[in-house]
Amino acid sequence: MIKVILFDLDGTLYNSSEVRKKFAEAAYHALAKLKKIPVDKAKTMIEETREKLKEKHGFPVPYTLTLVRFGMPVEIWHKENISYFDPRDYLSANGELRKLLQGLKKRFKLAILTNNNEVQAERILQALKVQDLFDHVFTYNSFRTMKPNPKSFQEAARVMGVAPKECLVVGDRYNVDLIPAQDLGMKIYEVKGPEGIEKLVTALLSVA
Ligand SMILES: [Mg+2]
Repeated sequence: MIKVILFDLDGTLYNSSEVRKKFAEAAYHALAKLKKIPVDKAKTMIEETREKLKEKHGFPVPYTLTLVRFGMPVEIWHKENISYFDPRDYLSANGELRKLLQGLKKRFKLAILTNNNEVQAERILQALKVQDLFDHVFTYNSFRTMKPNPKSFQEAARVMGVAPKECLVVGDRYNVDLIPAQDLGMKIYEVKGPEGIEKLVTALLSVA
């Protein structure tokens, strides 16, 4: 029986090409600063590496994991992206999403499990006006670990006080958000943005 739903944040509860663009730009600027190179050069390095990693692994590798490969300390990267842009400038309240989550909240505990940092995650939830609906917001800062590391999922379940099989994980990146969760015995559900959540609600509330 599902007791807890763990939602990914970026690309799952919202989809914004502007935020994606700012996030990528922040990565270029952060690497340029770290390596003391021009931003254009940093951009080429990052995008070429992401392309290679995508070929190797068969799926797009997140910017954060790409930066880590260049020796970027995660804390420095988060500091840079927090100061580079504020997602609240690009996102607005999503009343439809709020209604769907409210429906789920009557039967399940809801939590966020994101690789994003706590500052950006709070800003995003605030902009979407859904921040009060989650029992927990797990970010990179919670366990200093990132999906697809299974520890992220295990720790989230532990703090929520449930077994892995009582968790449903909802996310947009199959290899990062969902496969490791499934390997732990969690249920998984793939969406490509908030529109996908309506179907999930229909499915869950009809069988629950
Ligand atoms: Mg995502």
